[in-house]
Amino acid sequence: MEENQAFVNFSEKSSLKIALVGNPNSGKSTLFNALTGLHQKTGNFPGVTVDKKTGFAKLNATVTADFVDLPGTYSLYPKSLDESVTFEVLCNPANKDHPDITIIVADASNLKRNLFLVSQIIDLKIPVILALNMIDLVEKEGDTIDTARLSERLGVRVIAVSARKKEGIEEIKQALLQPLPVPQYDFIDLRKIAGDTIDKIRAVIHLNSDFAAFHSIHNLPEIHYLDDKPEKKAKMEAILKAAAHDTNKLQSLESVERYKVINRIVAECVFEKTEVKSETFTHKLDGILTHRIYGYAIFLIILFFIFQTIFFLAKFPMEWIEGLFVIISQWATNSLPAGEFTNLLVNGIIAGLSGVVVFVPQIALLFAFIAILEDTGYMARVSFIMDKMMRRFGLNGRSVIPLVSGVACAVPAIMSTRTISSWKERIITIMVTPLMSCSARLPVYTLLISLVVPQSKAEGFFNYQGLILMCLYLIGFIAAISAAFVFKIILKAKEKSYFIMELPVYRSPQWKTVTRVMFDKVKVFLFDAGKIIVAISVILWFLSSHAPGNRMETIEKKYTSTEMTLKYSDAERNVKISSEKLEASYAGILGKSLEPAIAPLGFDWKIGIALVTSFAAREVFVGTMATIYSADNKDNSQTVRDKMQNEINTKTNLPTFTMAVSVSLLIFYAFAMQCMSTLAVVYRETKSWKWPALQFLFMGTLAYFSSFIVYHILK
Ligand code: GDP
Repeated sequence: MEENQAFVNFSEKSSLKIALVGNPNSGKSTLFNALTGLHQKTGNFPGVTVDKKTGFAKLNATVTADFVDLPGTYSLYPKSLDESVTFEVLCNPANKDHPDITIIVADASNLKRNLFLVSQIIDLKIPVILALNMIDLVEKEGDTIDTARLSERLGVRVIAVSARKKEGIEEIKQALLQPLPVPQYDFIDLRKIAGDTIDKIRAVIHLNSDFAAFHSIHNLPEIHYLDDKPEKKAKMEAILKAAAHDTNKLQSLESVERYKVINRIVAECVFEKTEVKSETFTHKLDGILTHRIYGYAIFLIILFFIFQTIFFLAKFPMEWIEGLFVIISQWATNSLPAGEFTNLLVNGIIAGLSGVVVFVPQIALLFAFIAILEDTGYMARVSFIMDKMMRRFGLNGRSVIPLVSGVACAVPAIMSTRTISSWKERIITIMVTPLMSCSARLPVYTLLISLVVPQSKAEGFFNYQGLILMCLYLIGFIAAISAAFVFKIILKAKEKSYFIMELPVYRSPQWKTVTRVMFDKVKVFLFDAGKIIVAISVILWFLSSHAPGNRMETIEKKYTSTEMTLKYSDAERNVKISSEKLEASYAGILGKSLEPAIAPLGFDWKIGIALVTSFAAREVFVGTMATIYSADNKDNSQTVRDKMQNEINTKTNLPTFTMAVSVSLLIFYAFAMQCMSTLAVVYRETKSWKWPALQFLFMGTLAYFSSFIVYHILK
């Protein structure tokens, strides 16, 4: 290939831009870590929610390399946001991250599959280095790869590395400083596939490769170089319309052509001792794990185990965190001067922070499990067996984990949708996950169910309360998949969702990877979603502790009178004060003004107040009910449940919490989006307020009408 090559040399530059690309699981992150050490930052690619990791390393005394880790991808087609980002960065010289040199990370133990992406990038005709990673695995199997021959056949620098063992890292750094061959030939002849369309396109826009032209056939709307030139875009559209290519067919023809060449290269350069042992092991294991019956059974057992563990293990640190925040707020209350500021600090900010930090154990645990499933290769199998079923509802094999995690908490569940590469399927998963009954609904359910069915009403083994609870979980699940189905029809998607069936070999998980994933996710949640949660918490604190005019002072005054101090104990007075203050507050006013709207659901203004305050988190409902219903009761030993049960509606002279009202309220809490943390996370994951707003509206509407119907049937 020597005569076909041009060389570039960047050693004069003091700072080099380097991009890392590669298939998922090729060890790209491990190599990135080995290259950059601790000099790392995470962010997002501009305008999209794709995570971006950057870092730097000194190559010698004068040259620094700035690395950007591009999303893992199997090919350069714009199937997903991740792949579009990769293509855009590599092809658009105007892009901020456009690299001087691209390092392609390929899993040497899976060379054939990895060479597909390599061959596409070679066809972009940009300076590249091929890092043949996991060479240790190849050696362990007793196989050999002739890297010199591979380099000659591909026309690029090839360096064998083991990112995990930190071997070959120095060689890569040195190679970046030396003259690099830039591929000048075409890996496959795309004109054989797309005919003269390639030339026609290249006559309209300036491109340095046939592959870029071929790519624009698939992805015209996003072609960056047309942005500012509408007349060129029109010309391109005319060319593509006349050619009327079937892009799916083009893609499959291209794959066939590429694999023809790749097979020849692999046959020349890779020498296998015997059939790879791990492959046969993988094969055998796959026979069970992707089996039509056992596959699902095993998956169910694993899920069951994971969620039992999360519930069980997270409970303790969550209690400690809540305990710690109680201590902190007590300390603040006692040691700071009483007043507005302390009040804001304790009931607004510290309470908000506590509501953020308390999620950390669940997030960390869920992502530890997800990382283990991913790292061992099992997750790919789960997606594989679930994909067909989920696809009918507009979801994806990878939606299973978020949906099931939603039963614990929608917050980490929504954060785990990142692995869904199709934008549409990911959005749908995000939108419907909060319909799954989460653990914050449990206290509300328990309280309300106990109003509907007394504990005693059980026949032997059968427990009615348990039965209703189970129905609520079931209703949540049915609502989630039905909503997904509706979204599938409504949402338009530009991209097509493919399913790559290549299943990686099983490996034992790397604890470092697991801890890194946990740490990253917790950090993102604390700092990105945390800000919004604390802000809303402060607003809600203001609404429920402030009132127009001097109403609050009047209430305080009323209860400090000697008459009152004689009549009630201190504790009783405090309870009455909080109750009356809540009623007088802005939240109380809001609750009262909500009454006309919620009356058709059987709710009065007291429930209205609870709806307002529990927007922060559903479980606040119970606390609010306790405060409101403490008012007219002299006996404070009564439980919230008893108080609610004894509550008489002044208009009808009947109990307020009839069967109809309680069930209506249950349904409302099953469907309504009463969770600011979820909304904050949806915003963070979609980078737009549009989706959380839509979610709030559709879930609210669903809740309203369902409660309305239920109330009128039962009344
Ligand atoms: P990414 O998805 O491409 O970022 O891949 P990761 O860096 O997360 O690596 C995937 C898995 O391969 C992890 O379990 C790594 O520990 C493992 N891995 C990465 N590099 C090597 C290597 O050179 N040798 C071996 N044996 N395993 C590796």
